[in-house]
Amino acid sequence: MKWYEEDPSIVEKFLLSIYKYLGNTEEDYRYKIHVSDLIYDCLRRAYYNKIYPTIVDISGALRMSIGKAVHEIEMSAGHEMEIEFEGILGHIDEYWDGIVVDKKTCRMIPREPYSHHVKQVEMYRAMLIEKGYEVEKLAILYIDVSKPEIKAYSWDPQFDPLDVLDEMLTKKAVLLDALKSGIAPPRHVSWECNYCPYAWQCFKEVGGEDDSSD
Ligand code: SF4
Repeated sequence: MKWYEEDPSIVEKFLLSIYKYLGNTEEDYRYKIHVSDLIYDCLRRAYYNKIYPTIVDISGALRMSIGKAVHEIEMSAGHEMEIEFEGILGHIDEYWDGIVVDKKTCRMIPREPYSHHVKQVEMYRAMLIEKGYEVEKLAILYIDVSKPEIKAYSWDPQFDPLDVLDEMLTKKAVLLDALKSGIAPPRHVSWECNYCPYAWQCFKEVGGEDDSSD
């Protein structure tokens, strides 16, 4: 006979604590437009993200809770800074001395920053400049939680902030129209589809008809 036993009741208590820790940010997220809604070229993805409930399995919840905990580590006075532009909300991970840093937990550090991550910090920069802040450098801190390993990429801003703000307003308008009408924005098929959790909803057909207007 073993001197120990597997104890699911402790796992249950831990899981209850994890889901409590993650909280219910979904409702807040669903009814407001966030920078993270606008970073992909495909707004259809953002539309699905708003209308479909998020399903988080246990491994997803564990990853999310690790990500949340890492984000809570304070690096600067501008930690978790909230910013708003024309109803678009941004949560900047860190801002100090003209540097904007976004933290990304991952399971593999990319060889170069992903384009949607670059777009996200460029959007933060445009919003900060619009509010009168100075921004000279942008950075992403990748934190590989599986190895674990960290790497930061930084760069001088690449885009005209006015163009970035225009893009944000255009994307916001398209997304709001879609949410009002219930008709999904057109597909923007690219490499991003490989990592899109809504591919099923996006490409499914019912009775031979394109079911894109649900
Ligand atoms: S599968 Fe591709 S085209 Fe469809 S919503 Fe996702 S990113 Fe957009």
